[in-house]
Amino acid sequence: MAAHSGDTLEDRYHRVLSEVAGAARSAGRDPKEITTIVVTKFHPVSLIRQLHALGQRDFGENRHQEAVAKHQETTDLDLVWHFQGQLQSNKAKAVAQYADVIHSIDRESLLTKLADQDRHVDVFIEVNLTDDPGRGGVMPEGVTALVEKTLTVPQLTLRGLMAVAPQDEQPAHAFERVVALREKVLPLAPHATDLSMGMSGDFVEAISAGATHLRIGTAITGNRPSGD
Ligand SMILES: *Cc1c(COP(=O)(O)O)cnc(C)c1O
Repeated sequence: MAAHSGDTLEDRYHRVLSEVAGAARSAGRDPKEITTIVVTKFHPVSLIRQLHALGQRDFGENRHQEAVAKHQETTDLDLVWHFQGQLQSNKAKAVAQYADVIHSIDRESLLTKLADQDRHVDVFIEVNLTDDPGRGGVMPEGVTALVEKTLTVPQLTLRGLMAVAPQDEQPAHAFERVVALREKVLPLAPHATDLSMGMSGDFVEAISAGATHLRIGTAITGNRPSGD
């Protein structure tokens, strides 16, 4: 982490936002096109409240139990909730009751469950950029079939593609693969232009590649108290 200026939550928050804006301008982009989601998994609700007081509205969580509890404790705040973790089919309907955006759609069974509830949700299809089909995300060759299925569910608005850059690949190269996949999606879903990619270690590369939604945890929150 860059050690210049202070290291309170507020310092880190403002530093990352200015790095995001700087990276956008360097890439010839308007910083306003980019939504920075703060990933608060494993952190307490008090941290969400502090960030809200600093102006943050978009928050990301990975696990249903934790996310639903945090949502219930913050109904007095005007927050936008993003769910980005691997999603079990039997939790999908419950997640749709509080998540405004689900970034981890990776199979048809989730769509079937989401079709069987009434709340409107924006969704991203998560692409698995590794060679391991056991990881989260649909393999690239399965993306277009999943797009077609998503478009049949009236409760869902497809925003675009989501991905995590693999450990063993240059992030810029990984993100270019997502951008190339979007070219296959757009003829089917012309409005699905968004790209959810970029985390603490690679958001600058993601912005250069065209990311519209960054999911940033530790660079803002500091290290997570436990877990991954
Ligand atoms: C935890 C997580 C993030 C945030 O990771 P950091 O490296 O802490 O910024 C982003 N996306 C997903 C899918 C995650 O699980």
